[in-house]
Amino acid sequence: MSIALFTLGGTISMAGRTPDGVARLTGEDLTAAVPGLAALPVPLEIQDFEAVPSSNLTLAKMLDVVDAASKAISNGATGIVLTQGTDTLEETAFLVDQVWPHSQPFVLTGAMRNPTLAGPDGPANLLAAARVAGSPAARDLGALVVFNDQVHAARWVRKTHSTSTATFASPNAGPIGQLVEGQVRILTRPARQDGVPGRAEPADLDAAQVALYTVTLDDDGVLLKGLADTHQGLVVAAYGVGHVPATLAPVLGELAERIPVVLTSRTGGGSVLRNTYSSVGSESDLLGRGLIDGGFLDPYKARVLLRLLLATGEGQDEIIGAFAQHH
Ligand code: ASP
Repeated sequence: MSIALFTLGGTISMAGRTPDGVARLTGEDLTAAVPGLAALPVPLEIQDFEAVPSSNLTLAKMLDVVDAASKAISNGATGIVLTQGTDTLEETAFLVDQVWPHSQPFVLTGAMRNPTLAGPDGPANLLAAARVAGSPAARDLGALVVFNDQVHAARWVRKTHSTSTATFASPNAGPIGQLVEGQVRILTRPARQDGVPGRAEPADLDAAQVALYTVTLDDDGVLLKGLADTHQGLVVAAYGVGHVPATLAPVLGELAERIPVVLTSRTGGGSVLRNTYSSVGSESDLLGRGLIDGGFLDPYKARVLLRLLLATGEGQDEIIGAFAQHH
């Protein structure tokens, strides 16, 4: 029995500047710096996957990590820990959650303060993540983000602050658990959702380009023109409950006749509505024009989901069904 630790770079591994870039800690270095890790009941098996800023991660790369993690589970691992940069962690965690078929927890973590600073948070986060990955209480919860002694469900977690060590939060639901005196306490157990069926190969992902368009005040919509010729899907980060300027409504409606267009809120919390407003450009108008209700999904996660669905060949009905799980 073991916990499989995969490392992917990020601030948690940044050991300072070198003449040619950044010195990166290996998994071995990371674990050596964590008091308490050696006392865990199961050992960590380390695989250094890649050492990159999380801005360089791709969906295809993350699916490779998931494959390697699945192999570790087949070889007897009781859970997975993945360390990576925090910038894209809310998206990678959601992606993993969509494709992770196992009961064993897949826990993602990182750090906001690198190891050269006073009070780096990486060691505490890694220890907490390993505790969660090894905890029977964390089984059947899919992908989890463990940070700052909190446990977040991948489907709800957001990076909410550019520098704070308390950056990860779940605005719609709160954390599903906490670590208390080193013990994993799961407070609520969200039912697992249907993941994305099928396997997205890199070529399928390349062929499934999804744009994210954030609507802003006095928006001219110029960037939307011709979008269906270059992209296979679109996520709209709309105002508030799902509104856009009236001038954009027909443009989005025409796009929705050609490619799936998902309506989400740019606010960072709450769901888009369905039936409250009815003016041109309102949520009910846009849904009536064929946009798909993104529910509680934030625009970034909606984009990951739509890209995976398109890459695995799902049609409009399946796409609507997948997003309906987030209503
Ligand atoms: N820019 C870093 C990254 O995402 C930030 C971090 O790790 O916290 O790789």
